[in-house]
Amino acid sequence: MLKYRSYTAANIHELPQYRALSDEQIHTIKTVATVYPFRINNHVAENLIDWSAVPDDPVFRLSFPQAGMLQDKEFNDLSGLIRSGKDKTIIQRTARQIMLRQNPNPAGQMELNTPQLDGIALHGMQHKYRESVLFFPSEAQVCHAYCTYCFRWPQFSGLDNLKFANHDVSRLISYLKEHPEVKDIIFTGGDPMVMSSQLLRKYIEPLLKIPAIRTIRIGTKSLSWWPYRFTTDTDADDILRLFEKIVHAGKHLAIMAHISHPGEIENPAALDAITRIRSTGAVIRSQSPIVRYINDNAQTWEAMWQKQLHLGIIPYYMFLERDTGPKHYFDVPLHEALNIFNTAYRKMSGLGRTVRGPSMSCSPGKIIVEDITEIDEKKVFVLKFTQSRDPEWTNQLFFAEYDESASWIDDLKPAFGSNKFFFEEEMTEMMRA
Ligand SMILES: *Cc1c(COP(=O)(O)O)cnc(C)c1O
Ligand code: SF4
Repeated sequence: MLKYRSYTAANIHELPQYRALSDEQIHTIKTVATVYPFRINNHVAENLIDWSAVPDDPVFRLSFPQAGMLQDKEFNDLSGLIRSGKDKTIIQRTARQIMLRQNPNPAGQMELNTPQLDGIALHGMQHKYRESVLFFPSEAQVCHAYCTYCFRWPQFSGLDNLKFANHDVSRLISYLKEHPEVKDIIFTGGDPMVMSSQLLRKYIEPLLKIPAIRTIRIGTKSLSWWPYRFTTDTDADDILRLFEKIVHAGKHLAIMAHISHPGEIENPAALDAITRIRSTGAVIRSQSPIVRYINDNAQTWEAMWQKQLHLGIIPYYMFLERDTGPKHYFDVPLHEALNIFNTAYRKMSGLGRTVRGPSMSCSPGKIIVEDITEIDEKKVFVLKFTQSRDPEWTNQLFFAEYDESASWIDDLKPAFGSNKFFFEEEMTEMMRA
Protein backbone atom coordinates (compact mmCIF):
# COMPACT_ATOMS: atom_id res chain seq x y z
CA MET A 1 0.00 0.00 0.00
CA LEU A 2 1.32 3.41 -0.99
CA LYS A 3 0.14 6.50 0.86
CA TYR A 4 -0.68 9.39 -1.47
CA ARG A 5 1.70 12.30 -1.31
CA SER A 6 1.69 15.20 -3.68
CA TYR A 7 4.13 17.97 -4.43
CA THR A 8 3.54 21.37 -6.00
CA ALA A 9 5.85 24.31 -6.65
CA ALA A 10 5.36 25.32 -3.01
CA ASN A 11 6.73 22.12 -1.46
CA ILE A 12 8.88 20.77 -4.28
CA HIS A 13 11.92 20.77 -1.97
CA GLU A 14 10.25 17.89 -0.09
CA LEU A 15 10.23 15.71 -3.20
CA PRO A 16 12.72 12.88 -2.50
CA GLN A 17 14.14 13.22 -6.03
CA TYR A 18 14.59 16.98 -5.60
CA ARG A 19 18.38 16.72 -5.85
CA ALA A 20 18.16 15.38 -9.39
CA LEU A 21 16.97 18.85 -10.43
CA SER A 22 19.30 21.81 -10.99
CA ASP A 23 18.62 25.24 -9.48
CA GLU A 24 17.79 26.44 -12.99
CA GLN A 25 15.21 23.67 -13.42
CA ILE A 26 13.61 24.45 -10.06
CA HIS A 27 13.37 28.11 -11.03
CA THR A 28 11.82 27.18 -14.38
CA ILE A 29 9.26 24.93 -12.69
CA LYS A 30 8.31 27.64 -10.22
CA THR A 31 8.06 30.24 -12.98
CA VAL A 32 5.91 28.26 -15.41
CA ALA A 33 3.78 26.88 -12.55
CA THR A 34 2.44 30.39 -11.93
CA VAL A 35 0.57 30.01 -15.25
CA TYR A 36 0.05 26.28 -15.78
CA PRO A 37 -0.87 23.97 -12.92
CA PHE A 38 1.82 21.67 -11.56
CA ARG A 39 1.48 18.77 -9.21
CA ILE A 40 3.28 15.45 -8.99
CA ASN A 41 2.58 12.48 -6.76
CA ASN A 42 4.92 9.93 -5.19
CA HIS A 43 3.88 7.03 -7.47
CA VAL A 44 4.78 9.00 -10.59
CA ALA A 45 8.04 10.25 -9.08
CA GLU A 46 9.10 6.83 -7.80
CA ASN A 47 7.81 4.43 -10.43
CA LEU A 48 7.21 6.24 -13.71
CA ILE A 49 10.12 8.66 -14.11
CA ASP A 50 13.65 7.51 -14.91
CA TRP A 51 15.54 10.24 -13.07
CA SER A 52 18.82 9.40 -14.81
CA ALA A 53 17.14 10.42 -18.10
CA VAL A 54 15.77 13.76 -16.86
CA PRO A 55 14.96 16.19 -18.50
CA ASP A 56 14.29 14.04 -21.59
CA ASP A 57 12.35 11.33 -19.78
CA PRO A 58 8.84 11.41 -21.33
CA VAL A 59 6.94 11.18 -18.04
CA PHE A 60 9.13 13.97 -16.64
CA ARG A 61 8.16 16.06 -19.69
CA LEU A 62 4.56 15.16 -19.04
CA SER A 63 4.64 16.23 -15.40
CA PHE A 64 7.13 19.05 -14.96
CA PRO A 65 6.61 22.51 -16.46
CA GLN A 66 9.15 23.54 -19.10
CA ALA A 67 10.35 26.98 -20.14
CA GLY A 68 9.18 26.57 -23.75
CA MET A 69 5.56 26.32 -22.62
CA LEU A 70 5.63 30.11 -22.34
CA GLN A 71 6.74 32.56 -25.01
CA ASP A 72 10.27 33.89 -24.31
CA LYS A 73 8.99 37.30 -23.30
CA GLU A 74 6.33 35.88 -21.00
CA PHE A 75 8.87 33.60 -19.37
CA ASN A 76 11.42 36.37 -18.94
CA ASP A 77 8.86 38.78 -17.45
CA LEU A 78 7.70 36.25 -14.87
CA SER A 79 11.19 34.96 -14.20
CA GLY A 80 12.39 38.52 -13.54
CA LEU A 81 9.53 39.20 -11.12
CA ILE A 82 10.23 35.99 -9.22
CA ARG A 83 14.01 36.46 -9.09
CA SER A 84 13.66 40.00 -7.79
CA GLY A 85 11.39 38.72 -5.03
CA LYS A 86 8.35 40.71 -6.14
CA ASP A 87 5.11 40.59 -4.24
CA LYS A 88 2.93 37.52 -4.85
CA THR A 89 -0.02 39.58 -6.05
CA ILE A 90 2.11 41.27 -8.72
CA ILE A 91 3.37 37.89 -9.96
CA GLN A 92 -0.16 36.50 -9.98
CA ARG A 93 -1.51 39.46 -11.90
CA THR A 94 1.12 39.02 -14.63
CA ALA A 95 0.50 35.26 -14.71
CA ARG A 96 -3.21 35.86 -15.10
CA GLN A 97 -2.73 38.23 -18.02
CA ILE A 98 -0.67 35.52 -19.70
CA MET A 99 -3.35 32.90 -19.01
CA LEU A 100 -6.05 34.98 -20.62
CA ARG A 101 -4.00 35.21 -23.81
CA GLN A 102 -3.78 31.38 -24.18
CA ASN A 103 -7.24 30.76 -25.64
CA PRO A 104 -8.65 29.30 -22.42
CA ASN A 105 -12.00 28.43 -23.98
CA PRO A 106 -11.30 26.55 -27.21
CA ALA A 107 -13.96 25.10 -29.51
CA GLY A 108 -16.62 27.42 -28.06
CA GLN A 109 -17.30 24.91 -25.30
CA MET A 110 -18.91 27.39 -22.97
CA GLU A 111 -21.32 29.00 -25.41
CA LEU A 112 -22.24 26.16 -27.70
CA ASN A 113 -22.77 22.95 -25.82
CA THR A 114 -24.51 23.81 -22.57
CA PRO A 115 -27.94 22.14 -22.57
CA GLN A 116 -31.06 23.61 -20.99
CA LEU A 117 -33.75 22.25 -18.76
CA ASP A 118 -36.96 24.27 -18.43
CA GLY A 119 -35.16 27.20 -19.99
CA ILE A 120 -32.33 27.17 -17.46
CA ALA A 121 -28.76 26.35 -18.49
CA LEU A 122 -27.35 23.13 -17.10
CA HIS A 123 -23.80 24.16 -16.34
CA GLY A 124 -21.40 21.31 -15.91
CA MET A 125 -22.92 19.42 -18.80
CA GLN A 126 -22.21 19.37 -22.51
CA HIS A 127 -24.58 17.89 -25.03
CA LYS A 128 -22.81 18.30 -28.33
CA TYR A 129 -23.36 15.00 -30.12
CA ARG A 130 -26.85 13.52 -30.26
CA GLU A 131 -26.09 10.25 -28.48
CA SER A 132 -23.79 11.37 -25.70
CA VAL A 133 -23.64 13.80 -22.81
CA LEU A 134 -20.56 14.91 -20.93
CA PHE A 135 -20.99 15.50 -17.22
CA PHE A 136 -18.49 17.38 -15.04
CA PRO A 137 -19.14 16.55 -11.36
CA SER A 138 -18.13 19.55 -9.27
CA GLU A 139 -16.06 17.40 -6.91
CA ALA A 140 -14.03 16.09 -9.82
CA GLN A 141 -12.61 19.34 -11.14
CA VAL A 142 -9.13 18.43 -9.99
CA CYS A 143 -6.91 15.70 -11.29
CA HIS A 144 -4.43 13.10 -10.09
CA ALA A 145 -2.16 14.43 -12.76
CA TYR A 146 -1.60 17.88 -14.04
CA CYS A 147 -0.31 17.02 -17.46
CA THR A 148 1.87 19.78 -18.84
CA TYR A 149 -0.12 19.67 -22.11
CA CYS A 150 -3.55 19.53 -20.44
CA PHE A 151 -6.30 21.18 -22.51
CA ARG A 152 -8.41 21.68 -19.37
CA TRP A 153 -5.71 23.73 -17.67
CA PRO A 154 -7.96 26.79 -17.04
CA GLN A 155 -10.09 24.69 -14.70
CA PHE A 156 -7.03 24.09 -12.54
CA SER A 157 -5.51 27.55 -12.81
CA GLY A 158 -8.09 29.49 -10.87
CA LEU A 159 -9.73 31.04 -13.93
CA ASP A 160 -12.91 30.53 -12.02
CA ASN A 161 -15.41 31.93 -14.44
CA LEU A 162 -14.29 29.27 -16.89
CA LYS A 163 -14.83 26.38 -14.53
CA PHE A 164 -17.58 23.98 -15.48
CA ALA A 165 -19.08 21.96 -12.72
CA ASN A 166 -22.34 20.49 -11.57
CA HIS A 167 -23.41 18.61 -8.49
CA ASP A 168 -27.12 18.47 -9.21
CA VAL A 169 -27.83 14.83 -9.95
CA SER A 170 -31.59 15.30 -10.03
CA ARG A 171 -31.42 17.87 -12.85
CA LEU A 172 -29.11 15.60 -14.80
CA ILE A 173 -31.64 12.80 -14.43
CA SER A 174 -34.54 15.05 -15.48
CA TYR A 175 -32.60 16.12 -18.55
CA LEU A 176 -31.81 12.55 -19.54
CA LYS A 177 -35.48 11.57 -19.12
CA GLU A 178 -36.43 14.34 -21.54
CA HIS A 179 -33.74 13.27 -23.99
CA PRO A 180 -34.05 9.55 -24.60
CA GLU A 181 -31.78 9.94 -27.65
CA VAL A 182 -28.87 10.12 -25.18
CA LYS A 183 -27.42 6.63 -24.74
CA ASP A 184 -23.98 7.47 -23.39
CA ILE A 185 -23.08 9.45 -20.35
CA ILE A 186 -19.46 10.41 -20.00
CA PHE A 187 -18.13 11.45 -16.60
CA THR A 188 -15.18 13.72 -16.99
CA GLY A 189 -13.38 16.54 -15.21
CA GLY A 190 -10.63 16.86 -14.09
CA ASP A 191 -10.75 13.27 -13.10
CA PRO A 192 -13.93 11.65 -11.69
CA MET A 193 -11.76 9.02 -9.98
CA VAL A 194 -10.55 11.60 -7.48
CA MET A 195 -14.02 11.21 -5.93
CA SER A 196 -14.72 8.78 -3.11
CA SER A 197 -16.71 5.66 -3.92
CA GLN A 198 -19.59 7.20 -1.97
CA LEU A 199 -19.67 10.29 -4.17
CA LEU A 200 -19.35 8.23 -7.32
CA ARG A 201 -22.35 6.21 -6.16
CA LYS A 202 -24.34 9.41 -5.68
CA TYR A 203 -23.80 10.32 -9.32
CA ILE A 204 -23.91 6.91 -10.95
CA GLU A 205 -26.52 4.83 -9.13
CA PRO A 206 -29.53 6.98 -10.20
CA LEU A 207 -28.47 6.49 -13.83
CA LEU A 208 -28.81 2.74 -13.56
CA LYS A 209 -32.58 3.11 -13.49
CA ILE A 210 -32.76 4.98 -16.81
CA PRO A 211 -33.29 2.39 -19.54
CA ALA A 212 -32.17 4.70 -22.39
CA ILE A 213 -28.70 5.03 -20.87
CA ARG A 214 -26.75 2.05 -22.23
CA THR A 215 -23.18 3.15 -21.59
CA ILE A 216 -21.40 4.87 -18.75
CA ARG A 217 -17.92 6.12 -19.43
CA ILE A 218 -15.48 7.42 -16.87
CA GLY A 219 -12.56 9.40 -18.25
CA THR A 220 -9.54 9.05 -15.98
CA LYS A 221 -5.80 9.15 -15.68
CA SER A 222 -5.87 7.33 -12.36
CA LEU A 223 -5.14 3.93 -13.90
CA SER A 224 -1.59 5.01 -14.63
CA TRP A 225 -1.19 8.01 -12.32
CA TRP A 226 -2.62 6.51 -9.13
CA PRO A 227 -3.48 2.83 -9.73
CA TYR A 228 -3.93 2.33 -5.97
CA ARG A 229 -7.36 3.90 -6.54
CA PHE A 230 -8.38 0.41 -7.65
CA THR A 231 -6.14 -1.70 -5.39
CA THR A 232 -5.17 -0.50 -1.92
CA ASP A 233 -6.90 2.84 -1.28
CA THR A 234 -9.36 2.46 1.59
CA ASP A 235 -12.41 2.48 -0.69
CA ALA A 236 -10.78 0.62 -3.62
CA ASP A 237 -12.88 -2.49 -3.01
CA ASP A 238 -16.04 -0.43 -2.85
CA ILE A 239 -15.15 1.16 -6.21
CA LEU A 240 -14.94 -2.31 -7.72
CA ARG A 241 -18.32 -3.26 -6.15
CA LEU A 242 -19.81 -0.16 -7.77
CA PHE A 243 -18.35 -1.18 -11.15
CA GLU A 244 -19.90 -4.63 -10.74
CA LYS A 245 -23.22 -3.09 -9.87
CA ILE A 246 -23.16 -0.99 -13.06
CA VAL A 247 -22.37 -4.06 -15.15
CA HIS A 248 -25.06 -6.15 -13.41
CA ALA A 249 -27.59 -3.40 -14.14
CA GLY A 250 -26.97 -4.21 -17.80
CA LYS A 251 -24.91 -1.14 -18.64
CA HIS A 252 -21.64 -1.10 -20.49
CA LEU A 253 -19.05 0.46 -18.19
CA ALA A 254 -16.12 1.92 -20.09
CA ILE A 255 -13.08 3.16 -18.22
CA MET A 256 -11.56 5.65 -20.65
CA ALA A 257 -7.94 5.58 -19.55
CA HIS A 258 -5.70 8.43 -20.55
CA ILE A 259 -2.36 6.73 -21.25
CA SER A 260 0.30 8.70 -23.11
CA HIS A 261 3.29 6.42 -22.80
CA PRO A 262 3.78 2.64 -22.47
CA GLY A 263 5.92 3.20 -19.36
CA GLU A 264 2.79 4.26 -17.48
CA ILE A 265 1.38 0.73 -17.46
CA GLU A 266 4.46 -1.41 -16.92
CA ASN A 267 4.62 -1.39 -13.12
CA PRO A 268 3.01 -4.00 -10.83
CA ALA A 269 0.50 -1.55 -9.32
CA ALA A 270 -0.92 -0.62 -12.74
CA LEU A 271 -1.06 -4.26 -13.83
CA ASP A 272 -2.89 -5.18 -10.64
CA ALA A 273 -5.37 -2.33 -11.16
CA ILE A 274 -6.04 -3.40 -14.75
CA THR A 275 -6.73 -7.00 -13.69
CA ARG A 276 -9.06 -5.90 -10.92
CA ILE A 277 -11.03 -3.48 -13.10
CA ARG A 278 -11.44 -6.06 -15.87
CA SER A 279 -12.64 -8.65 -13.36
CA THR A 280 -15.70 -6.46 -12.69
CA GLY A 281 -16.83 -6.71 -16.31
CA ALA A 282 -15.81 -3.14 -17.07
CA VAL A 283 -13.99 -2.52 -20.35
CA ILE A 284 -10.88 -0.35 -20.40
CA ARG A 285 -10.33 1.79 -23.48
CA SER A 286 -7.37 4.08 -23.96
CA GLN A 287 -6.96 7.54 -25.42
CA SER A 288 -4.22 10.12 -25.52
CA PRO A 289 -3.05 13.09 -27.48
CA ILE A 290 0.10 12.90 -29.57
CA VAL A 291 2.52 15.28 -27.91
CA ARG A 292 5.96 16.60 -28.87
CA TYR A 293 8.76 15.31 -26.57
CA ILE A 294 6.46 12.75 -24.95
CA ASN A 295 5.14 10.36 -27.58
CA ASP A 296 5.99 11.93 -30.95
CA ASN A 297 7.32 8.75 -32.56
CA ALA A 298 5.83 5.59 -34.01
CA GLN A 299 7.77 3.15 -31.77
CA THR A 300 6.17 4.62 -28.66
CA TRP A 301 2.65 4.32 -30.08
CA GLU A 302 3.25 0.83 -31.38
CA ALA A 303 4.67 -0.30 -28.03
CA MET A 304 1.78 1.34 -26.22
CA TRP A 305 -0.94 -0.20 -28.37
CA GLN A 306 0.73 -3.65 -28.34
CA LYS A 307 0.99 -3.53 -24.56
CA GLN A 308 -2.62 -2.46 -24.23
CA LEU A 309 -3.78 -5.21 -26.54
CA HIS A 310 -1.94 -7.82 -24.42
CA LEU A 311 -3.50 -6.44 -21.27
CA GLY A 312 -7.03 -6.39 -22.67
CA ILE A 313 -7.20 -2.61 -23.03
CA ILE A 314 -8.86 -1.43 -26.24
CA PRO A 315 -7.00 1.36 -28.07
CA TYR A 316 -9.60 4.01 -28.88
CA TYR A 317 -8.32 7.50 -29.83
CA MET A 318 -5.16 9.31 -30.80
CA PHE A 319 -5.96 13.00 -30.42
CA LEU A 320 -4.20 16.08 -31.72
CA GLU A 321 -3.36 18.80 -29.21
CA ARG A 322 -6.23 21.26 -28.85
CA ASP A 323 -5.68 24.90 -29.70
CA THR A 324 -5.27 26.13 -26.17
CA GLY A 325 -2.54 26.77 -23.61
CA PRO A 326 0.97 25.60 -24.50
CA LYS A 327 -0.06 24.00 -27.82
CA HIS A 328 2.72 25.83 -29.68
CA TYR A 329 5.28 23.91 -27.62
CA PHE A 330 3.77 20.42 -27.69
CA ASP A 331 2.38 20.62 -31.22
CA VAL A 332 2.84 17.88 -33.80
CA PRO A 333 1.83 18.91 -37.36
CA LEU A 334 -0.97 16.96 -39.02
CA HIS A 335 1.22 15.28 -41.63
CA GLU A 336 3.67 14.06 -39.01
CA ALA A 337 0.93 12.80 -36.69
CA LEU A 338 -0.66 10.89 -39.57
CA ASN A 339 2.66 9.32 -40.48
CA ILE A 340 3.27 8.24 -36.87
CA PHE A 341 -0.27 6.92 -36.58
CA ASN A 342 -0.02 4.89 -39.80
CA THR A 343 3.43 3.50 -39.06
CA ALA A 344 2.29 2.20 -35.68
CA TYR A 345 -1.18 1.12 -36.90
CA ARG A 346 0.29 -0.99 -39.71
CA LYS A 347 2.24 -3.03 -37.16
CA MET A 348 -0.91 -3.97 -35.24
CA SER A 349 -3.06 -7.00 -35.85
CA GLY A 350 -6.71 -6.34 -36.61
CA LEU A 351 -7.57 -6.47 -32.91
CA GLY A 352 -5.41 -3.39 -32.30
CA ARG A 353 -6.88 -1.45 -35.21
CA THR A 354 -9.78 -0.30 -33.08
CA VAL A 355 -7.93 2.97 -32.62
CA ARG A 356 -9.04 6.09 -34.49
CA GLY A 357 -6.98 9.13 -35.26
CA PRO A 358 -5.25 11.39 -35.46
CA SER A 359 -8.38 13.23 -34.36
CA MET A 360 -9.11 16.91 -33.80
CA SER A 361 -11.86 17.59 -31.29
CA CYS A 362 -13.00 20.97 -32.55
CA SER A 363 -16.13 23.08 -32.68
CA PRO A 364 -17.98 21.26 -35.52
CA GLY A 365 -17.02 17.79 -34.29
CA LYS A 366 -14.26 15.22 -34.18
CA ILE A 367 -12.30 15.34 -37.41
CA ILE A 368 -9.89 12.56 -38.36
CA VAL A 369 -6.97 13.08 -40.69
CA GLU A 370 -7.52 10.03 -42.91
CA ASP A 371 -4.86 10.40 -45.54
CA ILE A 372 -2.66 12.66 -47.61
CA THR A 373 -3.08 12.10 -51.32
CA GLU A 374 -2.96 13.72 -54.77
CA ILE A 375 -6.13 14.52 -56.68
CA ASP A 376 -5.89 16.36 -60.04
CA GLU A 377 -2.20 16.92 -59.30
CA LYS A 378 -3.09 18.72 -56.07
CA LYS A 379 -1.73 17.44 -52.77
CA VAL A 380 -4.56 17.33 -50.23
CA PHE A 381 -5.48 16.18 -46.76
CA VAL A 382 -8.38 13.73 -46.72
CA LEU A 383 -10.50 14.47 -43.66
CA LYS A 384 -13.52 12.85 -42.08
CA PHE A 385 -15.88 13.51 -39.19
CA THR A 386 -16.26 10.63 -36.75
CA GLN A 387 -18.56 12.78 -34.59
CA SER A 388 -20.38 15.90 -35.64
CA ARG A 389 -22.72 18.53 -34.36
CA ASP A 390 -25.06 17.58 -37.22
CA PRO A 391 -25.09 13.76 -37.34
CA GLU A 392 -25.41 13.95 -41.15
CA TRP A 393 -21.81 15.14 -41.45
CA THR A 394 -20.43 11.97 -39.89
CA ASN A 395 -18.30 9.79 -42.14
CA GLN A 396 -18.38 12.26 -45.06
CA LEU A 397 -14.97 12.73 -46.62
CA PHE A 398 -13.77 16.25 -47.36
CA PHE A 399 -10.54 17.77 -48.56
CA ALA A 400 -8.14 20.50 -47.50
CA GLU A 401 -5.07 21.89 -49.23
CA TYR A 402 -1.93 20.18 -48.03
CA ASP A 403 0.02 22.37 -45.63
CA GLU A 404 3.16 21.08 -44.03
CA SER A 405 2.92 23.36 -41.01
CA ALA A 406 -0.81 22.88 -40.34
CA SER A 407 -1.55 21.39 -36.94
CA TRP A 408 -5.25 22.25 -36.45
CA ILE A 409 -8.40 22.68 -38.50
CA ASP A 410 -8.07 26.49 -38.31
CA ASP A 411 -4.79 26.23 -40.25
CA LEU A 412 -6.50 24.46 -43.16
CA LYS A 413 -8.01 25.81 -46.40
CA PRO A 414 -10.62 23.90 -48.38
CA ALA A 415 -9.10 22.23 -51.44
CA PHE A 416 -9.99 22.77 -55.12
CA GLY A 417 -10.69 26.49 -54.86
CA SER A 418 -13.82 26.39 -52.72
CA ASN A 419 -13.85 29.04 -50.04
CA LYS A 420 -15.73 27.06 -47.38
CA PHE A 421 -15.78 23.53 -46.02
CA PHE A 422 -19.10 21.78 -46.66
CA PHE A 423 -20.26 22.14 -43.06
CA GLU A 424 -19.30 25.77 -42.47
CA GLU A 425 -22.49 27.48 -43.54
CA GLU A 426 -24.68 25.25 -41.37
CA MET A 427 -22.17 25.65 -38.55
CA THR A 428 -22.46 29.45 -38.75
CA GLU A 429 -26.23 29.14 -38.54
CA MET A 430 -25.95 26.88 -35.51
CA MET A 431 -23.65 29.40 -33.81
CA ARG A 432 -26.20 32.15 -34.42
CA ALA A 433 -29.09 30.12 -33.00
C1 LIG B 1 -15.45 13.07 -27.76
C2 LIG B 1 -16.69 13.56 -27.25
C3 LIG B 1 -17.77 12.68 -27.03
C4 LIG B 1 -17.66 11.20 -27.32
O1 LIG B 1 -17.40 10.93 -28.68
P1 LIG B 1 -17.23 9.41 -29.14
O2 LIG B 1 -16.87 9.48 -30.59
O3 LIG B 1 -18.53 8.75 -28.89
O4 LIG B 1 -16.15 8.83 -28.32
C5 LIG B 1 -18.93 13.21 -26.55
N1 LIG B 1 -19.10 14.53 -26.30
C6 LIG B 1 -18.10 15.42 -26.53
C7 LIG B 1 -18.35 16.87 -26.27
C8 LIG B 1 -16.86 14.97 -27.00
O5 LIG B 1 -15.88 15.83 -27.21
S1 SF4 C 1 -5.42 13.70 -16.98
FE1 SF4 C 1 -6.54 14.89 -18.49
S2 SF4 C 1 -7.67 16.45 -17.33
FE2 SF4 C 1 -6.09 15.59 -15.98
S3 SF4 C 1 -4.34 16.98 -16.20
FE3 SF4 C 1 -4.05 15.29 -17.67
S4 SF4 C 1 -4.94 16.00 -19.61
FE4 SF4 C 1 -5.70 17.34 -17.93
